[in-house]
Amino acid sequence: RREHMPYKVLDMHAAPSLELSEQWQLEMEFEHAIERGELRMHYQPQVHLRSGRPIGAEALMRWNRRDGDPVSPEVFIPIAERIGKIKPLTIWALNTALRQASEWPKDHGSLSISLNLPSELAIQPDLPELVQNALQLWGKPHIQLMLEISEHSLMDRHRGRDILMQLRALGVRISIDDFGTGYSCLAYFKSIPADELKIDKSFIGELLSDAASLDITVLIIELAHRFGLNVVAEGVENTRTLQVLRNHGCEIGQGYLFSRPLPAAAMAAWLREQPRR
Ligand code: C2E
Ligand code: CA
Ligand code: CA
Ligand code: CA
Repeated sequence: RREHMPYKVLDMHAAPSLELSEQWQLEMEFEHAIERGELRMHYQPQVHLRSGRPIGAEALMRWNRRDGDPVSPEVFIPIAERIGKIKPLTIWALNTALRQASEWPKDHGSLSISLNLPSELAIQPDLPELVQNALQLWGKPHIQLMLEISEHSLMDRHRGRDILMQLRALGVRISIDDFGTGYSCLAYFKSIPADELKIDKSFIGELLSDAASLDITVLIIELAHRFGLNVVAEGVENTRTLQVLRNHGCEIGQGYLFSRPLPAAAMAAWLREQPRR
């Protein structure tokens, strides 16, 4: 009957799982980190590929453990979901990102601040109200809020659609994140009110070495344009990749070639160094 046991830890023949107690330890530590305000938001610049001008940034959450080791958001965001903290955490991230972006220089024209919206929140009926409150507190005319929604959370299209429409009525823009990595469904383009599509870095990173990644990228760009969406390429690491993307009409790039994610003050400083419109 062993094949029916869902988790390794239930296997009585195995040693007690160290991994699981480490997991609990990390969850407890993370909960304390939230209470003590030890999380930070960093900002990764996005650049208009043709002109080289700044477009804005994506807000990315950071957690350094007390021993100094950073934990990846790919690890702690799922923890936040598991321990029921993802909603307050996202509200905090939203307010922090809007507040810190409100300090960005005004002489670049309109700049966008993109925030990752977890699937669970994308279908919460009070999301538009939470966003409206944050915008009332921290919104600035030169700052445009963009919410990044991963493909996975679009599965529940009917519940999500109304909420997205309400958000757009507030002037918020919608970006489809990690496109191509999940269960890409062309029906999104018919039913989801989106403004932008992000090509995942797994394709961009292999653009130069893998013909299929290049083909997929080019098709995604064409598809997005057909439906009137801007395209952001994530994970642009070298100028050759930049050239290929630019030649295929991709509008916006984000990646180590331009900048790593930066603490708030460094992001504002980066903007001050960039060419004006
Ligand atoms: P994502 O939304 O796909 O974010 C892009 C990830 O690519 C970020 O990883 C970023 O640091 C990384 N990246 C950017 N440029 C490059 C590059 O040129 N090369 C490479 N190799 N990587 C690059 P990060 O910050 O570790 O975040 C990982 C994921 O965690 C994000 O993936 C997102 O799904 C999630 N995440 C991060 N911050 C938040 C947050 O505030 N809220 C939520 N819900 N999720 C978040
Ligand atoms: Ca994202
Ligand atoms: Ca993502
Ligand atoms: Ca991605």
